[in-house]
Amino acid sequence: MKCFNHPDKDAVGMCNCRKFLCHECCHPESSVGVVCGPECKAKAERVLKISEEVSEVPGMVNRVNQEAKRRQKRLAIVFAVINVLTILMAISLGFLVSRITARLK
Ligand SMILES: [Zn+2]
Ligand SMILES: [Zn+2]
Repeated sequence: MKCFNHPDKDAVGMCNCRKFLCHECCHPESSVGVVCGPECKAKAERVLKISEEVSEVPGMVNRVNQEAKRRQKRLAIVFAVINVLTILMAISLGFLVSRITARLK
């Protein structure tokens, strides 16, 4: 592979934008890797920043999961209460109906 800027020189590195670069064109930036120019350096730094932010996402996902679990537990309690109320209502209704039918006899 030849350099993107110097077709007569062999490439020794590749920029983030996939341009091959010779030794002269490589601007090794320790934080973002090989870049062909300031424009790509800025882009690489943006990508690096985003990837750092993304690496914080698992913690956020964990927090969201915990919140969802807590909400599920709360919902389960609400459903249990509704179930108990329904059963109580059914029992009291059955009691009322049996009393009414007893009175009718
Ligand atoms: Zn070059
Ligand atoms: Zn580039």
